[in-house]
Amino acid sequence: MGSILYPWLDEAWQRLNAYLVAQRLPQALLIHGADGIGKTHLAETFAQRLLCKNPEAFACGDCAGCRLFLAGTHPDFLRIEPVERGKPIAVDAIRHLIANLALKPQYGGYRIVVFCAAHQLNINAANALLKTLEEPGENTVMLLLTDSPSALPATIFSRCQRLSIPLPDNAIATRWLEAQRTGKATDVLLAVARCAPLKALALADSDAVEQRRTAFSECVDVVFRRQEPVSLAERWSTLAHEDLVGWMVSWTIDLIRLRSLPDCPHLDNSDLREGLQALAGRLHLKSLFGFFDLLLRAKRALNGQANRQLLLEELLIHWAQLGRSPQTEWDYHEC
Ligand SMILES: [Zn+2]
Repeated sequence: MGSILYPWLDEAWQRLNAYLVAQRLPQALLIHGADGIGKTHLAETFAQRLLCKNPEAFACGDCAGCRLFLAGTHPDFLRIEPVERGKPIAVDAIRHLIANLALKPQYGGYRIVVFCAAHQLNINAANALLKTLEEPGENTVMLLLTDSPSALPATIFSRCQRLSIPLPDNAIATRWLEAQRTGKATDVLLAVARCAPLKALALADSDAVEQRRTAFSECVDVVFRRQEPVSLAERWSTLAHEDLVGWMVSWTIDLIRLRSLPDCPHLDNSDLREGLQALAGRLHLKSLFGFFDLLLRAKRALNGQANRQLLLEELLIHWAQLGRSPQTEWDYHEC
């Protein structure tokens, strides 16, 4: 039996197969889409399909190529990734890859290199990779995966063909997640995961949903001056900064909606509607747009060398000022 793809990846899969049918498989393909949407699953399913000796729509799952791939020991399948989440991919990994690619594929077929979190390539690693991206060698396919394509160096971005994976329709994501029987509220999981189904599923096994709810009420307290922003940043120091900023982005979008249309029927955080409505009545639209810009810059800064704790502190200080003055100047320093 071949692999079964997640239902929302069908269209991307058709695109990949269309390359094969047309015999125009890109040598460097950037696959981008939200965190938790299944980019790695798609890339690995496709890699196995390329390495399979008897492929049909999918890999056969049973030939020598498939067995090696499934055991994680296929010599013509290479994976490059940060040693740790949030850490850069260093130039040594790329030098090692280039040395590897100088040899012929061991099984005489395709050779596939998957770059997980490709936006984490540091500048030296990216520069070392440029020539290889243009001429990776015969039958070699480089699949670069990222949820932050804008964080990739332009030199890398421009050398890749691109395949974008959109977020699934809410109904498709809901149906799939309900079938996983997590025992938790599907709409809340999808709201926290911003509709990325695999992320929603992972959240069901973590305490992130509760953390987000607590973080939200702490943010409300900051606006109503029941909590100091700096001490909250200190309390948040052990939480994942990416998650916190992501939640704040999502709350801010909902606040802008509510500020424009107080009974807005669709909110991403429908479970927090009451608290969001209380906040929206107190905040200024212009300040919210300014804060949204600040959040986006913070999100980008988190991919770099920013002082993460200081960044959180600055965000919360600005957040605390949201209810006070519509004329706040957004003076933001990337540190
Ligand atoms: Zn096979």
